[in-house]
Amino acid sequence: MKILVINCGSSSLKYQLMDMTDESVLSKGLVERIGIEGSILTHEVPGRDKEKIQTPMKDHKDAIANVLNALTDEKIGAIKSYDEIDAVGHRVVHAGEKYSGSVIITEDVINALEECIDLAPLHNPPNIIGIRATMELLPEAPMVGVFDTAFHQTMEPEAYIYPIPYELYEKHKIRRYGFHGTSHRYVSEKAAEMLGKDIADLKLISCHLGNGASVTAIKGGKSVSTSMGFTPLEGLAMGTRCGDIDPAIVTFIMEKENLNINQVNNMLNKESGVLGISGVSSDFRDIETAAKDGNERAALAIKAFDRRVKRYIASYAAVMGGVDGIIFTAGLGENSPTNRLAITDGLEFMGVEMDIIANDFRGSAKIVSKESSKVKVLVIPTNEELMIAKDTLELVK
Ligand code: ADP
Repeated sequence: MKILVINCGSSSLKYQLMDMTDESVLSKGLVERIGIEGSILTHEVPGRDKEKIQTPMKDHKDAIANVLNALTDEKIGAIKSYDEIDAVGHRVVHAGEKYSGSVIITEDVINALEECIDLAPLHNPPNIIGIRATMELLPEAPMVGVFDTAFHQTMEPEAYIYPIPYELYEKHKIRRYGFHGTSHRYVSEKAAEMLGKDIADLKLISCHLGNGASVTAIKGGKSVSTSMGFTPLEGLAMGTRCGDIDPAIVTFIMEKENLNINQVNNMLNKESGVLGISGVSSDFRDIETAAKDGNERAALAIKAFDRRVKRYIASYAAVMGGVDGIIFTAGLGENSPTNRLAITDGLEFMGVEMDIIANDFRGSAKIVSKESSKVKVLVIPTNEELMIAKDTLELVK
């Protein structure tokens, strides 16, 4: 069974074609600058050189048509014809309160996603456009939607309700939804495997630390608390997002800096986080370099970031009444031994003992705590595409 995984952003599209008989990647790639001058498709078949195809792509349908052409191309392709694609799995950001798991996409599902556009105005529209375009181009292939929010639908009301007038929840569905669900689910399942335990018996805290970053408490395989909220702006400090701040700051800066709603939104989403503090970059590699060269604000940004992750870990251990494993994943989590050390420093009181030598590596799945550590610390590269493909397989089988 061959499954195509599609992840549509506003002007980009990532894809991966997987052979589910052995979960191998047949091809993967990325389209950038959709609808903008300079559209480009980067296409890769493992073991061969990357191909770059520059051709105008006015919308997502154009982009998907080009991806399908590349996949079936005699020279650079991975399959002979469209018919070999048995099903398509789509990553969708927001499914509101409607879906707590992945589903076969029908017109009803698309309508439900359209109803959530208000909740994810930047993400759901391109996701929906991508689904419709793929349906037109591959009318025979069943489509499955895998939602970022679904994994967190197991949270109890006390974890998702905000302390604002309850009517706002009833009227506008303002509540915590949580994101990165596919990643948190994948790494928690993988952690149970690595620990040789049944996930039903485990209390895990997964730290997805990339450009966007979130922490989730997972008890018995179910999300019980997560740091992102109504939108992906809440929680940790991120590359450019502010995470938790006193809400009074918003109206204060609007008044003092004379900013309108769009400007303040832009500031909190795109000019804040570690970029905002450091003034250097949103990328941790640049910030670490600057800090090493003596830039104090860069050093401060890293310290402030790490401290928040630590705070969430400790509070989630309290929420679950203990923790068996802490997982680090995504760009920074997988690749930065120094940040993993800084984040776990001070958690010895909870039973965390890091193995400094084992921790000094990047990029693969490994336990980085000492044998004697009561709480295991694991580094696990996330694989949202594989999770989406597995869900798709399960539903279309
Ligand atoms: P996204 O949320 O965009 O998917 P990623 O999970 O790819 O993000 O993470 C990207 C971030 O990971 C980069 O901005 C960078 O800060 C961090 N990162 C990647 N590699 C390293 C590294 N070797 N050392 C430190 N940070 C890294």
